[in-house]
Amino acid sequence: MRKIRYIVILTTNKKKYTIATLGSHCSLQVLKGAKDEGFRTLLVCQKSRIDLYKRFKFIDDMIVVDRFDEVLGDICQRRFRQTNSIIIPIGTLIAYMSAEQIESIASPFFGNKWILRWESDRALKQKLMEESKLTTPKAIKSKNEIQKLCIVKLHGAAGGRGYFLVWNKETFEEGARKLIEKQVIDSEDDLYIQEYAMGVPTYLQYFYSPLTDSVELMGVDRRYESDIDGLGRIPSKQQLGIELEPSYNVVGNFPLVLRESLLAEVYAMGERFVEAAKRLVPPGMTGPFCIEGVYDRDGKFTAFEFSARIVAGTNLYVNGSPYSDLIFAEPMSMGRRIARELKMANKKGQINKVIT
Ligand code: AMP
Repeated sequence: MRKIRYIVILTTNKKKYTIATLGSHCSLQVLKGAKDEGFRTLLVCQKSRIDLYKRFKFIDDMIVVDRFDEVLGDICQRRFRQTNSIIIPIGTLIAYMSAEQIESIASPFFGNKWILRWESDRALKQKLMEESKLTTPKAIKSKNEIQKLCIVKLHGAAGGRGYFLVWNKETFEEGARKLIEKQVIDSEDDLYIQEYAMGVPTYLQYFYSPLTDSVELMGVDRRYESDIDGLGRIPSKQQLGIELEPSYNVVGNFPLVLRESLLAEVYAMGERFVEAAKRLVPPGMTGPFCIEGVYDRDGKFTAFEFSARIVAGTNLYVNGSPYSDLIFAEPMSMGRRIARELKMANKKGQINKVIT
C-alpha cells in the first residue's frame, strides 16, 4: 500500500519586521526601544554622523547617505523592502521633506502618514486644533491687525528658529526684513503671526493605541531654547545695550511633572484630539503625539502647536517617566511603546491597524 505522507505547513501572518528611522532627533531612543522589544533595527545615517551612531550596539544596520532626502531614492527604498522595514516618522523627516515627498514613500510608516501634512501646514494645523476644541492663540491675518504682543513664526517644523516677537506693524516689518536679507524667507507671506500666549511652556507627550483604543500620557517636558532662555542671564542694563533679536531654537529639554489637579484636563485634551483626528484625517492619530502650549496663572492651557509624531522631548524618558511608570510595570520609553504596539499588532494579525 502506498504510504501517504502529510506535510503540515504552519501558516502564519506574522512577519519579521525591521524598525527603521533617520539618524537624528530621537532615533537613538526609537531604535533602542525597538531592540528592547526584539526587532531588528536600521538607521539611515548621514556620512558625517557614522562615528556617533556606530557606538550603539542596538543599531543592527545602517544605510549611509549624504543627505536625508536620499530616503526617497531607489537604494533606500530597496533596502527598506528587503529588510521589511517599518519607518518611524520623526521631526527630521518633516524638517527635510515636503508632505508630498513623505506621502510618496512606498514603505509602510508607523502611524498615520497622512496626518504629518496637518502638522506642517499651518491652516490644517489650526483646523485640527479647533476641531479638538483646544484653546489656541488668535492667529493674526495681517500685519495691520497687530495690536498686542505677537510671535511671528516660519512655516514647517522650524523648531523655533527665526521666530521673533512683535507688537506693531513696524516691528513686524523690521523682523521680516532681517529674515529676507538673510535669505531665510522670500517674503513676508512666508510668516505666520500669532498672539503671544503668556504663561509657562509645557509639552504634553501622548500615545494613542488603536489596539486598545486608549490614550496614554507618557511624559511632560519643557524646552530649553536659545537664546530666549539665555536672556535672563544678562542684567537688564546690558540687555538694553545689545541689539539682539532672540530666537526660540530648541537646544534641549527639561523634565516636568504637573500638578495632579491638571491631569484630568490633560487626558481630556488628548482624547478630544484623537477623536477629532479620526473625523478629519482617517485613520486618525495612531501612536505618539504632542500637544504644545502654555499654562497661564489660572492653570488654563493654551495650545500653540501639536506634533503628530514622536517629539524629541521624549528623549528624557529612555527609562520611563513619572507618567509612563503609572501605566507600565517596566521602563517604557516612547520609542519602546511604539515597538510594543507594533509587536502586539503583529501578534494579533492586526498590523494594518497601526501602519499606513
Ligand atoms: P513651536 O515651534 O511652535 O513649538 O514654538 C517654539 C517656541 O516658541 C515654543 O516652545 C514657545 O517658547 C514659543 N511659542 C510658540 N508659540 C507661542 C505663542 N503663541 N505664545 C508664546 N510662546 C510661543
